[in-house]
Amino acid sequence: MYRTHNNGALRSSHIKETVTLAGWVQKTRNKGFMIWVDLRDRYGITQLIFDEERTPKAMMVIASSLGREFVIQVTGTVIERESKNPNIPTGDIEILVSEINILNESITPPFTIEDETDGGEDLRMKYRYLDIRRNPVRENLIFRHKVTMAVRNYLSQKDFVEVETPYLIKSTPEGARDFVVPSRMNEGQFYALPQSPQTFKQLLMVGGMDQYFQIVKCFRDEDLRADRQPEFTQIDCEMAFIEQEDILNTFEGLTRHLLKEINNVEIGKFPRMTYDDAMQRYGNDKPDIRFGMEFGELNAIAQHKDFKVFNSAELVVGIAVPGGNSFTRKEIDKLIDWVKRPQVGALGMVYSRCNDDGSFKSSVDKFYNQDDLAKWAEATGANPGDLICILSGETNKVRAQMSALRMELAERLGLRKADEFAPLWVIDFPLLELDEETGHYHAMHHPFTSPKPGQIELLDTEPGNVKANAYDLVLNGNEIGGGSIRIHDKETQAIMLRHLGFSEEEAKAQFGFLMDAFEYGAPPHGGIAFGLDRLVSILGGQETIRDFIAFPKNNAGRDVMIDAPAPIDEEQLNELNLIVDIQ
Ligand code: ASP
Repeated sequence: MYRTHNNGALRSSHIKETVTLAGWVQKTRNKGFMIWVDLRDRYGITQLIFDEERTPKAMMVIASSLGREFVIQVTGTVIERESKNPNIPTGDIEILVSEINILNESITPPFTIEDETDGGEDLRMKYRYLDIRRNPVRENLIFRHKVTMAVRNYLSQKDFVEVETPYLIKSTPEGARDFVVPSRMNEGQFYALPQSPQTFKQLLMVGGMDQYFQIVKCFRDEDLRADRQPEFTQIDCEMAFIEQEDILNTFEGLTRHLLKEINNVEIGKFPRMTYDDAMQRYGNDKPDIRFGMEFGELNAIAQHKDFKVFNSAELVVGIAVPGGNSFTRKEIDKLIDWVKRPQVGALGMVYSRCNDDGSFKSSVDKFYNQDDLAKWAEATGANPGDLICILSGETNKVRAQMSALRMELAERLGLRKADEFAPLWVIDFPLLELDEETGHYHAMHHPFTSPKPGQIELLDTEPGNVKANAYDLVLNGNEIGGGSIRIHDKETQAIMLRHLGFSEEEAKAQFGFLMDAFEYGAPPHGGIAFGLDRLVSILGGQETIRDFIAFPKNNAGRDVMIDAPAPIDEEQLNELNLIVDIQ
C-alpha cells in the first residue's frame, strides 16, 4: 500500500498513529540538526520532521538530499506540532519520519510550484503538467468537474439522455471553417470535425430520443481571437415536442440550479429582451446588465441646431457615466483618444458634464444651451455628478463603439463585479445576417433554425427583417448559450438553403441525409448549446477560459507542450494521398 492517508487528511485526533504518506516535496528547511519537509499532493500539505535525536543518521542524510518535486513515500508517527500553522488544515500535526523511500527524483522545475508562481504564461504552458500541480490550476480543474457533474445530474434527473455523436463527420456549418481529416481508405476524401453535433442531435430527435444532451468537444477553425480555443466544449442539448417557451424554462432552470449549487446565489426569473431592444439599449446582443449606462438616443433632441456632426449622423446616442463629472479634462481627453483607437473606431466624442448644481457644461456649448443639455440628461438618465458621453454616426457602427465604451467605463469604474450574476435571455434574433463584404445573407444562428411562424414569405422580399425562433442566454456580458427551434420539414429546409445560396444539388449533397430524415416523421424540435469553458470561467469568477482547460492551446492555436500542429513525414502524406505534385 502506497499510503494510508493523503496529505490533507491528518488532524490532532490522529496523534500517535503510525501512518504512511506519499507525495511531492514542496520545500525543505534544513537546520542541520533538524529538517522539515512539506509533502504535497492533490489534497494538501503535511509537514514531515526529521531530527538528530530521534532520526537515524542515514535517514538524516537522505532527508537533506531531497530536492524540490522529488516523489517520496514516508512512514512515521503523527505528533503534535510545536509551532502550529492555523493556515492549513493539517497545521496542528507533523510526522516524525521513521522510514523514507525516494520513489522518483526530479530535476529543478522551470518555475516555482506555488500559488503565485514566477513562471510566465508560455513556460507554464510548455510544462503544463507542472502547472497543474499548483493549487489555483488544480482547483480550477476540480471546479470544472463540479460544474459538469452538476449539469449531468440535473439533466439526467430531468430525463435527458447523454448520447455520443461521431467526431469524424461531414461539415456542420456554424459559421466557422472546418478542421478536416484526410481519409486514408477513401482516396481524396476528407472528414470534417464537428463544429457542433447539430445535425446529429436533430437526427436523434427524429430517432425518438426525445431529450438529449452531451458534454462534447467541438472544433472550429477560426482566426483566433483572444481567449478562443480551436477545440472547446459544449453542453449540447435538444428536445422534441417543445416550443421556445419550454426550452427557455428548462435551461433557465439548469442555469439557476448551477448558480445555486456552485455559487450559492439565488436568481429569480431571468429577464428577457428582444434582439432589437438589446441593440437599441446596449448596442450589443449580449449586454452586461450588472450595471446601467443604458443608451439614450438623442436624434430628436440633438439634431435641430447647427452642429453638422450630429445633423449628418444616422444615430446620435449617449450614456450617463455615474460620477463621471469627477473626471479631469485630461482624463476625458484620454477617453476621447480611447474611442478613437482603431479597435473602437469613433471619430470623436462629445460630452456634457452634469454639475452638482443642476447646470451643464458641454464640449459643444457653442451649439446647445442649458435646456438642450437638460434634455440629453433626461434621455440618458444622467444625474448631477455624472458625465454624458455621446457618439454619432452610422447606427451599427455607433452602437458597437458605444457598447465598447460602456464596457470599458464599467471596467474602469469597477462595475463588472465577478461575484455578481446577471443572466438574461435575448430572443427574437434575425434569421439572416447580411455579410457586408460579399453582400450575401447568411444564417445568423445556423441554417437549421426556423423562421418565426408566418415570416417565411418575407424571405423573398425583406430577408433582413425575418425573425427567427432563436435565443441566446447571456450572463454578465457573455453569450453562454444559444439555440433555436428547428425547421423540421423538408420543404422549409429546402427554401432556407436556397436563400442561403445553396443550389439544389449542393443542398442535397451536403444535407440530403437530414432532409431525407425529415420525410420520415420528424417531430417538432429545438435545442440549445452552452459553451462549457466560458460558463465555468464565469461561475469561477475569472476571465480566461484557458485557466479552466487542462491542456489549452495558445493564441496561435498551438499546443506548446506537445508541439502541435507539426509536419508529418512523407510516407504518411503518401499514404493519405496528400502529396501535391507542384511540377
Ligand atoms: N449548434 C448550435 C451552436 O453550436 C447550438 C444549437 O442551436 O443548439 O451554436
